[in-house]
Amino acid sequence: MSKAALVIGNWKMNGSAALVRTMSEALREQPQLTSAVNVVICPPFTLLAELTRQCFYDNIAVGAQTVNAQDNGAHTGEISVSMLQELGVEYVLIGHSERRACYAETNPVIAAKLNTATAAGLTAVLCVGEDKQQREQQQTWEVIEQQLASACDELTDTQAARLVVAYEPVWAIGTGETATPEQAQHVHSQIRQWLVKRFGSIGEKIEILYGGSVKADNAAQLFAQEDIDGGLIGGASLKKQDFVAIIQAAQG
Ligand code: PEP
Repeated sequence: MSKAALVIGNWKMNGSAALVRTMSEALREQPQLTSAVNVVICPPFTLLAELTRQCFYDNIAVGAQTVNAQDNGAHTGEISVSMLQELGVEYVLIGHSERRACYAETNPVIAAKLNTATAAGLTAVLCVGEDKQQREQQQTWEVIEQQLASACDELTDTQAARLVVAYEPVWAIGTGETATPEQAQHVHSQIRQWLVKRFGSIGEKIEILYGGSVKADNAAQLFAQEDIDGGLIGGASLKKQDFVAIIQAAQG
């Protein structure tokens, strides 16, 4: 990890206006940290505007947890890229395993979302990863390669420059079971090689984050790995001490 690390908090369907204030105040007290590490928070849609207001001067970027691939029309309950951009949102998670598993987000749906988001100028965090059974059957790379190939099929170089990849083994998300630094580095180096093969020198610069039960006490070892450029943090991003400690670990 040579340039500034990227740490993204995914609040999932948690949080409140009070948590937005608590978290932004905690980060505001650490200006040296938030200028050394790129910090993004992805709250639920309802808190995006409040977070943007609170973090406007604080070097913290705001992300959404998903987006629709269409720009407007008859899509009840959905939110478009331009709606996010109007709120000052700069990042969006695409293809989180919970959306793949519970909300029928197939590889083609994810590809469409990634295309729309990156074409419009958002930074898109593409989540990939294998489940427990796939790992046990030695299909880890096969699964991830399919996810990457499908999602990136139509991306131009300009769009790829707005891509971040998050390796999130499904068996490690919210389970307390983390990939070892060696397991994570192994997959990250495969992802790096794939990105360089697909996008050339742009692929060398695409950030690859690790996600899956990252905590204050295991973050430093994970972030010390050569191809781990930061983390996507779920549960621990809801507690200010834990989130700040993880950002500190990313500072090196
Ligand atoms: C996530 O939801 O992206 C995640 C990594 O969750 P957790 O850190 O809770 O495992």
